[in-house]
Amino acid sequence: MAAPIRLYFLGGLGEIGRNCMVLEQDHKLLLIDCGLMFPDADMHGIDLVLPDFTFLIENKDRIVGCVATHGHEDHVGGLQFLLRELEFPIYGSAVTLGLARNRIEEAGLLSKTSLNVVNDGERVTIGPFDIEFLPVTHSVPHAHAIIIHTPQGVIVHSGDFKLDLTPVDNRRTDLARLGELASTVGVRLLMCDSTNAEEHGHAPSERSVGSVLRQLFWEHRDRRIITASFASHIHRVQQVIEAARDHGRKVCLMGRSMQNNIALAIDLKLIDVPASTFIDVEKIHDYAPQDVCIISTGSQGEPMSALSLLARGESKWFTVGENDTIILSSHAIPGNEGNVNRVIDGLMRAGAKVVHSGIADVHATGHAQADELKTYHSIVKPEWFVPVHGEYRHMRAHAELAIVMGADPNKVLQVSDGAVLELSDNGLEVVDSVPANYLYVDGIVGDVGQGVLRDRRVLAEEGVVVIVATVDVQSHRVITGPEIITRGWVYAPEADDLLDEAEAHVEKALVAAVNDGVVDIDALEREVRRAAGKFVNERTKRRPMIVPVVMTT
Ligand SMILES: [Zn+2]
Ligand SMILES: [Zn+2]
Repeated sequence: MAAPIRLYFLGGLGEIGRNCMVLEQDHKLLLIDCGLMFPDADMHGIDLVLPDFTFLIENKDRIVGCVATHGHEDHVGGLQFLLRELEFPIYGSAVTLGLARNRIEEAGLLSKTSLNVVNDGERVTIGPFDIEFLPVTHSVPHAHAIIIHTPQGVIVHSGDFKLDLTPVDNRRTDLARLGELASTVGVRLLMCDSTNAEEHGHAPSERSVGSVLRQLFWEHRDRRIITASFASHIHRVQQVIEAARDHGRKVCLMGRSMQNNIALAIDLKLIDVPASTFIDVEKIHDYAPQDVCIISTGSQGEPMSALSLLARGESKWFTVGENDTIILSSHAIPGNEGNVNRVIDGLMRAGAKVVHSGIADVHATGHAQADELKTYHSIVKPEWFVPVHGEYRHMRAHAELAIVMGADPNKVLQVSDGAVLELSDNGLEVVDSVPANYLYVDGIVGDVGQGVLRDRRVLAEEGVVVIVATVDVQSHRVITGPEIITRGWVYAPEADDLLDEAEAHVEKALVAAVNDGVVDIDALEREVRRAAGKFVNERTKRRPMIVPVVMTT
């Protein structure tokens, strides 16, 4: 009997973001990715959402390291928070580690880890784990799938990937190696990216975006061109730079992450651009509009980004006008559509032309669509399959796709965050669960609880009613108030009558309570809250936060 392997899913199964899972072999633990998620609009004041670290902190002595599949924030953005609590080495490609490093360094936590560069196809031993890094194409360079050679057979974690046959760097997803494993030792278990399982067909090649960009540069040759895309999408930025250079334009990088990432790409020799191509933003007015191309951050409409400032006319460097074409070479992540639309509106109001993915093919996804997933399944032919990286519907679509491709329905397991699976001689089964709640990050505070978030939601949606009263417990009389102060429930100056009525109502309840001999402040406050809550709800059908403040003399 071979020793079993355990898999713990701490995030990413049920949402796009905060991807994080743990492997257990011989009582040692290995993390695969530790990402963050951007908050929904109803998570008021929340900056980021992280995986639940409870299990990791409780088992910190057993952790031997973290394997990072690629450098996107939803895979490495949580490391700078986890490293506050724990210490462990990180393994990944030079690009992956370069992107992760900036944030870890900013947080002053480089001393808590060691960054170990792994090359394509390399096999490393981390504690008891035997790990192979397989090249895959994605929307960030040098991404990897992870092959885990275990006593229970080969486990494949696809990482985020697409099957781009003509990638910009000619580095393709290594299907040959997957086929070799499948036809020799066989793949015991596959965990695979589900993001685009509902999208039919095949994702376009990244290179096709380059042709569209060159065409746009030709059509807009007399105008200043400003592009925006993810700063980590080095191949996209590279194609913009090439289109600009073909038209004799100088390139100006705006936004700190764009400047950092392009410097990293040049450092790692991913792109080869002479320094004379670039100009500083201060020099922008030295060039005619048709002689410059500005590459900016802010493709997700982030309010403080360079592009948003331009859209609001608040950039200190220049203003956008009728002579500008803006190319949004990106796609809004769910939740960001409103911000992106506001930016497009602002730029158009200023007179600029805006080209986005809705009107031209200026973006290609980094995630495999249904036909690519079918190809992948037909090559990997896993015995067991677990869909990962997606909302529930994406994972469901992927599970169905696997069955269409010949998987045994009894060997396709769709599970959610918190599931603990065990792969043993008997097969794969759910054996336990671990905490996998959202960990909310608010400013520098690590943990904003559910309670705080619930209060914020009520405050934002229903407002607050504060009721102040003073009671003389000796004489059983209400001596001041009750006075009602409200924000966000009704507009006070126009609702005098309603507020008077509410005060009278609360006073009656308070007097009745005092006459019954209630003198305890908590009990009096409860009574005030109950009376006010009932009145407010009956009269306005609202449920604002009610804060009673009762003082006694
Ligand atoms: Zn991802
Ligand atoms: Zn990714």
